[in-house]
Amino acid sequence: MEQTKSRAWREVDLGALAHNARALQSALAPGCRLMAVVKADAYGHGAAPVARRLEREGVKAFAVACLDEGIALRRAGTGGLILVLGYTPPEQAGLLRRWGLTQTVAGEAHGRALAAQGVPLEVHLALDTGMHRLGVPAEDREAITRLYALPNLKIRGVFSHLCVSDSLEWEDVDFTRRQLERFYGAVKWMKEHGCAPGGTHIQASYGIWNLLPQPCAWARAGIALYGVTSGAAPTRRELGLRPVLSLRARVAMVRTLAPGEGAGYGLAFRAREERQLAVVTIGYADGLPRALAQRGGEVLLAGRRCLMAGRMCMDQLLVDVTGVEGVRPGDAATLIGRDGGAETSAGEVAQRCGTITNELLSRLGARLPVVPV
Ligand SMILES: *Cc1c(COP(=O)(O)O)cnc(C)c1O
Repeated sequence: MEQTKSRAWREVDLGALAHNARALQSALAPGCRLMAVVKADAYGHGAAPVARRLEREGVKAFAVACLDEGIALRRAGTGGLILVLGYTPPEQAGLLRRWGLTQTVAGEAHGRALAAQGVPLEVHLALDTGMHRLGVPAEDREAITRLYALPNLKIRGVFSHLCVSDSLEWEDVDFTRRQLERFYGAVKWMKEHGCAPGGTHIQASYGIWNLLPQPCAWARAGIALYGVTSGAAPTRRELGLRPVLSLRARVAMVRTLAPGEGAGYGLAFRAREERQLAVVTIGYADGLPRALAQRGGEVLLAGRRCLMAGRMCMDQLLVDVTGVEGVRPGDAATLIGRDGGAETSAGEVAQRCGTITNELLSRLGARLPVVPV
């Protein structure tokens, strides 16, 4: 916990990450490999150290959201497949090629525009099986055929994305079943009609948690890799994953408020009787939701859960440490993670703020150094 002198930091347990990668890999069908989703700076965990550790675990495929994330990964030395999941403007084809990135074909028009750049590109074809975000409609065999006929597009994979696989409600389970049917139907047709699909993939984290192992080349795990679920919904499988990230900051000072005094913006905290407040060096500009302080957010100090006090500031927050012994300037305060016997999870913080862990973690700002442990 004390390997850094920073004011606030993201502590990343690379051992837990490696454990999660192994647990996920062993939950997949034989022949199906983990594609590590490291978009948004690896969901706030630091894409470069995460990818480096995963490569040591034998992971050979990564997914990012955009071109710049792919280039940053290559610059950091990541080898293997890097798939850009999102739309890349066709004019950037040269950069995709230069950095050896594999681009998602978002739709027929995108595929045509990419091909028209005159640069040979490795691509994966996105099929829309019901989410209606990216992808060529899985039933549109003509569009698929036309894409295969284009010059410059080397289609190395075909994939789709599930949109309700986090739910165990029967309507959702049934919708997912239909998405799988459309996907495998299209893949089968492609094989029979000279459109080699290459590597296939459809499961993301909830597809791994809630579906049987799928006969694909890859499964794209994001949030599961980081050892947490998106929300509180139950999952069918229990994979024994471990949270990777802890979020910590420093105590700048501890002060005593006299009865009747207030603290912070709007004097939103009021001391009815004498109170001790710790000033902690992290705020909403570090990516912590500002609403957390007003929604009963807690911070671990000296192994105890303590309530945030008043309004969160941009770079600091106040914590009521009345009656907690041994809180001193320089101490590490835990916003996500463990301290002694106490724990506060990303899930708990996200739930308090009405969001999912994916959003909470991916917003943790660049101002917070990543400290691998
Ligand atoms: C973000 C993303 C993933 C990873 O999703 P998780 O639920 O975090 O595992 C997988 N596939 C696509 C297309 C994505 O956009």
